[in-house]
Amino acid sequence: MKEIVVISGKGGTGKTSVALSLACTGPEKIVLADCDVDASDLHLILKPQKISEDDFYSSDLAVIDYDKCTDCGKCSEICRFDAIGNRENKYYINDLNCEGCGYCSHVCPVKAISMVKQKDGVLTVSDTRLGKRLFHAELGPGAENSGKLVAKVKNTAKKYARENEYDYLLVDGSPGIGCPVISSLSGADLVVLVTETTLSGFSDLKRVVELVKKFRIKMGCIINKSDINAEICGDIREYLESENIELMSEIPYTEDFPRAISEGLSPAEYSLDLKKEFEQIWNKIINLTGEMK
Ligand code: SF4
Ligand code: SF4
Repeated sequence: MKEIVVISGKGGTGKTSVALSLACTGPEKIVLADCDVDASDLHLILKPQKISEDDFYSSDLAVIDYDKCTDCGKCSEICRFDAIGNRENKYYINDLNCEGCGYCSHVCPVKAISMVKQKDGVLTVSDTRLGKRLFHAELGPGAENSGKLVAKVKNTAKKYARENEYDYLLVDGSPGIGCPVISSLSGADLVVLVTETTLSGFSDLKRVVELVKKFRIKMGCIINKSDINAEICGDIREYLESENIELMSEIPYTEDFPRAISEGLSPAEYSLDLKKEFEQIWNKIINLTGEMK
């Protein structure tokens, strides 16, 4: 089983449209994982039928037991995150500020503070209209630890794919170079980078390439909206060559991308030309990752 991760250094490059199109044009035996947990949206287009749902607990929150609390205020003095306030002579925890460090529970002289696991999100397993299984998740509002949730989504999908002898796990990763992206990269066989021909697109591509190089994972790149700026497009081509990264496709700007999404389709389902293009990209993915079984 080969693991393909689609990422971009920045948002707005068309990464999710690319991931959707790859999901629609790829080989039959693919499992899909939406690891863009801060803004997951593959499910909006793939019309999933939920099979199971699992709550995700990761962070801790301090909780005061008022039957024990003597209002001494020691917890409030030591909290560096300004998460313990006082209202009408009662100390209280500000949930949004609490980082779950647990220091207050150690200093409380009467053991009135306990650390309670917080529900940070939900992992859902679904069957999609493509007949391909999708693992997706949603991070709760204000919840942190999206890197951990990404790892849970990916590892659950990977386990399923291995146990059921799938050929590919296709992962839609998060934009940027932060913790969720790092989490989605671990164990991947190929990273498909999606960029666009803008200064910020090129700059963020270079940042994400430096990140992926640390993992020693093979990379290929799709230049989306390749005709927006011919000079930057040329610079990106040269850069990819210098980094020994395969240029998988140049896709000129087309209204078919937003039109497809607004009709609930992937661009590859909306346009025959794009379907052919993504089939070509799959041939390159298969070449880069080795033959299927
Ligand atoms: S757990 Fe840490 S951040 Fe939260 S209230 Fe206690 S000391 Fe403050
Ligand atoms: S340290 Fe313990 S007893 Fe003192 S105010 Fe905080 S919770 Fe109450």
